[in-house]
Amino acid sequence: MHFSFLRASCTALFFSTLTLFVTSSHAALPQDSRHAGGIAVIEVAPDTKAANLEENPVALVIENGKTYAIVGIPISATTGTHTLTTDHGNIDFNVSDYAYPEQHITLKDTSKVNPDPEQLARYQREAVEQNNIYKSFTPIQTNSFPQFIWPAHGRISSPFGFKRFFNEEPRAPHAGIDIAAGLGTVAHAPASGVVVQTGDYFFNGQTVMIDHGQGIISMLCHLSRIDVKIGQSIAQGDPIGLVGMTGRATGPHLHFGVSLNNTRVDPMLVLPADSARP
Ligand SMILES: [Zn+2]
Repeated sequence: MHFSFLRASCTALFFSTLTLFVTSSHAALPQDSRHAGGIAVIEVAPDTKAANLEENPVALVIENGKTYAIVGIPISATTGTHTLTTDHGNIDFNVSDYAYPEQHITLKDTSKVNPDPEQLARYQREAVEQNNIYKSFTPIQTNSFPQFIWPAHGRISSPFGFKRFFNEEPRAPHAGIDIAAGLGTVAHAPASGVVVQTGDYFFNGQTVMIDHGQGIISMLCHLSRIDVKIGQSIAQGDPIGLVGMTGRATGPHLHFGVSLNNTRVDPMLVLPADSARP
């Protein structure tokens, strides 16, 4: 699947022709889903150069000659009016009510529920490291939204947003989706980009983070093996490692997270329909 790369590099010359083709075979923009953990796709003035939600810069893309801000809505967002600030004025948008289900998980390794002080300190260091990456905003030459593919084949064993209870203790909602794939299954880059972090984290296990430009960052966790290095440019579909169960995991699976404007959103909103899974 190198089509999005082709499209990106040819945008200036063949924009209208290719866009027609793309819209007939791909969802070129993410699903406009204005609820907590969702994405608001907001049309802005054509020559808008900057947009922000709170203090975070927001990705701007061009589709069919119109300019859109692709706004990640925090899972903690209140329902009601929120404001996108741009260099062409403010735009209000409404966040609607949305209820995520609860999930109760039992873990035998109780340190992954209540880490000891040393483990907690490690987790806090790692969280800062990951948050700094989520906050980064790399300008890219093309302004089209990256087209994502499924990073692995499998059913969704845990959707985004589940209010999770580990051994009946409430924890942060699930910030991505879990794809149930067997141990050693190849995990693929969901879109082209640059590897900005690899690590072995307390909760996330062996993890790869990929920068797709303009604050659009994906994360693949619990890997048994990592096959890419920080700074490496990767194309969509490139193998990045193998599925595992490192970190806080009850079985082998790939945790896939997507962040826009330093906000973790439901990856299903950027992925093609189930029928297009590898
Ligand atoms: Zn997960």
